[in-house]
Amino acid sequence: MSEPNFGLCGGCLFQRVVPTTRGSLFSLCERAAEDPSFPRYPRIPVGSCAGFLARPASTDQQQAEDGE
Ligand code: SF4
Repeated sequence: MSEPNFGLCGGCLFQRVVPTTRGSLFSLCERAAEDPSFPRYPRIPVGSCAGFLARPASTDQQQAEDGE
């Protein structure tokens, strides 16, 4: 399954990628649960976001992307 262009969300600590039953991927913003000013499913690609926080390179998701 190829990953869509998530824009800024693709490198953000608060992003969770959610697969659908139809085989596509949604980008869920975990900040939305605590702050309603963030959309739960932001329209991608996200170009700018006040809540962006860079995901550390050593997270599981990054390792999965690297094939580890
Ligand atoms: S905080 Fe912003 S950049 Fe991060 S996942 Fe949410 S919408 Fe995307």
